[in-house]
Amino acid sequence: MITVLVSGAAGRMGSEVVRAVSAEDDLRLVAAVDPAHAGEQVQDAPGLYFTHPSVVAGNIETALTRGVHCVVGTTGLPMPTLEDLAARARDGACLFVAPNFAIGAVLMMRFAAEAARFMPHVEIVELHHDRKADAPSGTALRTAGLIAAARDHVPEGPGRETEIADGARGALVDGVTIHSVRLPGLVAHQEVLFGGQGQTLSLRHDSIDRTSFMPGVILAVRKVTGRSGLIVGLERLMEE
Ligand code: NAD
Repeated sequence: MITVLVSGAAGRMGSEVVRAVSAEDDLRLVAAVDPAHAGEQVQDAPGLYFTHPSVVAGNIETALTRGVHCVVGTTGLPMPTLEDLAARARDGACLFVAPNFAIGAVLMMRFAAEAARFMPHVEIVELHHDRKADAPSGTALRTAGLIAAARDHVPEGPGRETEIADGARGALVDGVTIHSVRLPGLVAHQEVLFGGQGQTLSLRHDSIDRTSFMPGVILAVRKVTGRSGLIVGLERLMEE
């Protein structure tokens, strides 16, 4: 039996995680924490974190320094911060972070990296609900990083256009342009657009509702207890 604490339990993701964990026979929900429900202790349980970029580092530190494994979905934490947190873990606790827990999104990122080897001209359009705290999304940042690692050169952009309005051409991350759309009604979506001579290739993933993240979250909770150190990306656990 794996005991689980959910932090950010009253949020859009956290409440879904509470439901998903409660439905599994081998997982036991021992605490559901949110500022409105203060006072729970983080002890002897993997902690699940879907909170806010401004608070998640402190929460992770509290758990890791007590030897509690962490599964983190909150996006917006830079890699040096994650490395620093993981270095403070006690008793071999694992810090697992996934910018996206949806299996389809992980595949979309993998296919994008593969396509970038042959079609290096690429831009990312990520679309999320209008309450999202960070932009670009963690998924878009990770996709840009994977593309940068996969392609052998950064093709020259058009470079001739005049940006009539600031931001019209998006943000440049690892040499990849990212456009962030925020609208009510959306959940989490991303399209990776490749251009080549006389052709385009579009890779698109849509999380239609937040249950899409739950199989990945449950997989991570089950696998994290046997690991230690910092692990980033659901793909690191999917094939083991
Ligand atoms: P939300 O605003 O609905 O929920 C955040 C919750 O955290 C709130 O209920 C808030 O009260 C709580 N909270 C604030 N401070 C806290 C603290 N100190 N301790 C514990 N809880 C605290 O946000 P959301 O839509 O559920 O998203 C949460 C995070 O998850 C965001 O960073 C988002 O980008 C990320 N996210 C990740 C994935 C993924 O697959 N990795 C998918 C969706 C969302």
